Amino acid sequence: MKSLSCRDAGFDCDYVVQAESDNEVFAQGEEHVFNAHGMKKQDFIPAFNGKFKSFIKDTS
Ligand SMILES: [Zn+2]
Repeated sequence: MKSLSCRDAGFDCDYVVQAESDNEVFAQGEEHVFNAHGMKKQDFIPAFNGKFKSFIKDTS
C-alpha cells in the first residue's frame, strides 16, 4: 500500500490517501484537493509531479 498525508503535502488537514499504487494515490489525492482545498487541475498536476510525489510513503 501507498499512502500520502495531506499534512505532509503542506495542508492543515488530517486526510490521508491510501491506495495500491502511485497512480491511485494521485487519483484519490486529486479528488480530495479539488473538493477540500479548492485546487484546480492546472495547479495540482505540476505540484503533484514536482513535490507531492516525494511524500508518498510505502506502507506495505
Ligand atoms: Zn486535505
